[in-house]
Amino acid sequence: MPRPKQPQQYYDDIKAKFRDARNLRLGYRPPGTDQFISELSGDLSKYAVDPYAADVPDRAPITDEVEVLLIGGGFSALLTSARLRERGIKGVRIVERGSDVGGTWYWNRYPGAACDVVSYDYLPLLDELDYVPVNHYSRGPEIFGHCQAIAHKYNLYDLAVFNTTVTETRWDETEALWQVKTDRGDVMRAQFVICANGTLAKPKLSAISGMTAFSGHAFHTSRWDYQYTGQNLEHLKDKVVGIIGTGASAVQIVPELAKTAKAVYVFQRTPSSIDVRDDWPTDPNWARKLEPGWQNKRRSKVLAAVENSLEKRASKGATSPEEKLKKQENANIDYMMRIHRRIDEIVEDQTTADALKPWYMFMCKRPCFHNEYLPAFNLPNVHLIDTKGQGVTEISAKGPVFDEHEYELDLLIYATGFEVQQTGIYNDIKGQGGVNLQDKYKNGIRTLLGIHTAGFPNLFIMGGYQASFQFNLTDMLQTQGDHIAECIDYVRRNGHHTLDATDAAEAWWVEQVIEHRGKTNRSEECTPGYYNFEGNEQRRQDGNYNGGFRQYFECQGQVREKMTENFHLASRKPSSSLDKA
Ligand code: NDP
Repeated sequence: MPRPKQPQQYYDDIKAKFRDARNLRLGYRPPGTDQFISELSGDLSKYAVDPYAADVPDRAPITDEVEVLLIGGGFSALLTSARLRERGIKGVRIVERGSDVGGTWYWNRYPGAACDVVSYDYLPLLDELDYVPVNHYSRGPEIFGHCQAIAHKYNLYDLAVFNTTVTETRWDETEALWQVKTDRGDVMRAQFVICANGTLAKPKLSAISGMTAFSGHAFHTSRWDYQYTGQNLEHLKDKVVGIIGTGASAVQIVPELAKTAKAVYVFQRTPSSIDVRDDWPTDPNWARKLEPGWQNKRRSKVLAAVENSLEKRASKGATSPEEKLKKQENANIDYMMRIHRRIDEIVEDQTTADALKPWYMFMCKRPCFHNEYLPAFNLPNVHLIDTKGQGVTEISAKGPVFDEHEYELDLLIYATGFEVQQTGIYNDIKGQGGVNLQDKYKNGIRTLLGIHTAGFPNLFIMGGYQASFQFNLTDMLQTQGDHIAECIDYVRRNGHHTLDATDAAEAWWVEQVIEHRGKTNRSEECTPGYYNFEGNEQRRQDGNYNGGFRQYFECQGQVREKMTENFHLASRKPSSSLDKA
């Protein structure tokens, strides 16, 4: 039976509660991202150590030259490299901090890790690898294995360098090549450099007073210590475990901890919205009937699909902009109240159920989908410590302290997330004239498509700001990878050596970003989180391109149609060592 239509006052009251929840949180916090630490050095350096790397072998520093060097070995690098290989480019090197490819899926091996995007869309290059995922939603190990399979298929291990962190990327004007230095003493040279170091790659910790005094064991979710927990968490049977944070990582981890640990304390600052996860094994009959090219057809449909369907559905008809906005908001609130009702249906203790209810618009925070998270709170060993927006602010030698109660723990897990979309920014990158990219961006990010930036020839940035943002990130990365491969191919085919965005092309794109930012005031009204820079005011150009995914894709095509207008293209300098080779 359809639910009765609510009067507008009902929606206005809920919106007022959303506002209160946001203000409460902003009142507690240091401004914006200052509350987090992502420079994990000194006493905090243990949180950055790679637990998955076996003994790192010694090797001599590398001083060679390749055509294309990719910083990072996750999906950005794999997708782009595959396309470069298809165009016959041989000298492709991945430089990766971890000891294998995989990026997110190399690092995030915590129990329960899985992807919330349908596997047939999320796992890229399925046609090329002739592979059909085993479930509707893929688990972490399958995705990691798929990354390795891509690297094998395209021979990307041949030149790859692992356990190596890039420390400086500098444009050498004389050689017209990039010089890339690493923490292993390498000084590699490359004609093209692609920053493929991930949108959520650097783990961050909440800066909590006393955190280094904790005497128990502790790690970040992206550095899971299976030696301590046991492969199936069997060592946790007699352990009291605490987890700080209730974002998408914690939502997957808590049900696993609940199955084994003696006690689990979940320290919540803001609840996530948790919807049903419709998972099932792939039907072998369906898989057998798939015709070659099936995934590409699916992807084309995604590109053609109407965006923001929830909002678009609500905005149909001849209505004024104000009415449209109201309809969108009301539809959004209806959805969130369904999320609340689901919590009431599942969680038995009313106080816990109420504490788990998210008071913000859908998509203010990254939505979660899980069938075991909410039921975990009915188990006698699982305890929700709701800090009511304040968060954990103190940790003693024994464990977190909240409301004058000290929670004595054996293990403390930080599920506090990652630095966001800094790819291309935090690697010390110096372009023409020695200009540092961070200095160039000081008065606002300036790029063409979020990929090229003037004064940094032959440099490409993937997954950074001023690009489109997609729930299915691999869709977005694939368009960027295709675009980059086309650009490199163009340069090679036409006898050029460098391409560099013109100031005019860059200015056009910055305008596009500004024009399409802030179509609604949702971001300013949302509870703080990484989607809205933790509530910080932001220059309009310092974010994603919000003109829509399909438009972003079309703009890439438009840029490539007029290569000579949008880029300075130059041929090899006679003194360059490439000529000598
Ligand atoms: P998030 O940044 O999403 O979450 C961090 C959590 O830590 C938030 O709940 C935050 O609360 C909380 N927090 C921070 N400081 C404190 C404190 N002092 N006390 C208590 N809580 C605190 O990180 P995740 O690792 O969970 O997820 C990052 C992203 O990775 C996701 O958004 C998603 O894009 C991706 N991901 C995808 C998965 C999937 O496909 N299923 C699985 C896992 C991750 P508050 O909300 O108040 O800031």
